[in-house]
Amino acid sequence: MANGDSPRLDPDIAAVAYDDARDAKQLSPAENADLCAGCVQCCTYLTIEIDAPRVAWEYDQWIWALHHEGIELYVERPERWFLHVGARCRQLTPAGRCGIHGHHPVLCREHDPRSCERRYPLSDLRAWFHDAGELEAWIRRERPAHWARLAAHRDAATRAASAPTAGFVALAALTRPSPGPRATEARGAGTV
Ligand code: SF4
Ligand code: SF4
Repeated sequence: MANGDSPRLDPDIAAVAYDDARDAKQLSPAENADLCAGCVQCCTYLTIEIDAPRVAWEYDQWIWALHHEGIELYVERPERWFLHVGARCRQLTPAGRCGIHGHHPVLCREHDPRSCERRYPLSDLRAWFHDAGELEAWIRRERPAHWARLAAHRDAATRAASAPTAGFVALAALTRPSPGPRATEARGAGTV
């Protein structure tokens, strides 16, 4: 990945040229360079598989996350959810090369440029959420029962925030300044 030193090849030609049964780690540096020439795409984000949301607070958590820049979610069939974080690797040089090539993580070495996202879109993609609105629309459309629970979760939070609580009233009563001995004495003196 991102170690291109060779002249740029047409991605389609490169894909055919190295379309064999070898493991990605068996590709030579020159082959990797040809395949990745002019591309740094997979060095500019990371993905982490997450538990598929089911309950209201889980949806609420991911809606919150999707309000943040650089955060996206996608779902693969049958149902595997992934967090997608836009983040350029610190080891990617301005020239678009891996600054630690040769001792870069195994995870990078196992990423196969013959079948990577530059050449093939995700074939088992079910949904992609670029922002919170897209996830909310999907829940409403695809999982109406979950959407109803999320709406109830939000309504409950709104009611709790707007209603005066018994606890607050009790605390206010406890902390209200008491008359004190002097005031009691004065009141008592006045009634004699
Ligand atoms: S997306 Fe593919 S072609 Fe681009 S740097 Fe990564 S492995 Fe290479
Ligand atoms: S370590 Fe190197 S190959 Fe791996 S993501 Fe960073 S720049 Fe890319």
